[in-house]
Amino acid sequence: MFQTSLFADASTSLAEADFILVGAPFDATASFRAGTREGPDAIRQASYNFETYEDRYDVDLHDLKIFDLGNLVLGSDPAYAWETIGESFAFIPAEATPIFLGGEHSIAPPVVAEVARRHELGVVVLDAHLDLRNEYGGTKMSHACTSRRVLDICDRYASIGIRSGSREEFLYAKKIGLHYHSSKEVAERGIGPVLEDALAEVGCDRIYLSIDFDCLDPAFAPAVGNPEPFGLAPRDVRRAIEVLAPIAAGLDVCEIAPQYDHGQTAILGARLVREFIAAKAAGTDRLPKSDNRS
Ligand code: MN
Ligand code: MN
Repeated sequence: MFQTSLFADASTSLAEADFILVGAPFDATASFRAGTREGPDAIRQASYNFETYEDRYDVDLHDLKIFDLGNLVLGSDPAYAWETIGESFAFIPAEATPIFLGGEHSIAPPVVAEVARRHELGVVVLDAHLDLRNEYGGTKMSHACTSRRVLDICDRYASIGIRSGSREEFLYAKKIGLHYHSSKEVAERGIGPVLEDALAEVGCDRIYLSIDFDCLDPAFAPAVGNPEPFGLAPRDVRRAIEVLAPIAAGLDVCEIAPQYDHGQTAILGARLVREFIAAKAAGTDRLPKSDNRS
């Protein structure tokens, strides 16, 4: 009857929730174009486009226990934002799966830190960029440093979709033996074998999944902070979610800057968040056994 500003089907109480959405509307370190602070609400609005029933998983999101905490007030200082994100975990019961809606990708490391405190896990990052700079724009908390900061927390790590970085970042990746998979590799081998490799590299029964939306090709997701051509297809990302969600202890979806398109990027974001929830609720038993590019 009422459509609120909360994510669609987020209708349970906080105490009972299995999935908890948190908006992190922070874009103060944006290096090219800002506006990802509008991402969480754009994703929420777009979430009302979809049926509550996800036929691929035989799951109705209406029957699941989803809660939306709303948006954090993060200011413009990344140190304050990270501290506030950390403190927000006081509201997230340990059994629930947190889903953070960015915001720029710099919001991911403090989320990973808190989830890693609760679970032994590896991290899988979908991103066009290596994000391995130690510092950018005068801060170590820049969105250009995300994977570097994640590696400070957890060295069980693999990234997929990579096609951009500085020479120094690629040299650093080689030096530390970083596990990363380019978008070209995904195009050539298919997402299935790449996911298998990434899971073996991470070597963990449980993972945290961080999706920088610029992993997708700008043809499908033009409204991101740093669009990078030759990216992943939506089906690749959906397959990654399908495989990883059942073992995921948390998710973030970052870098959607909705003012740069006609809504299609936020629609894809909302759809993929819903896929994650459905895939996780369905569990590992009924992973669709379709081909690599499903
Ligand atoms: Mn990126
Ligand atoms: Mn990133």
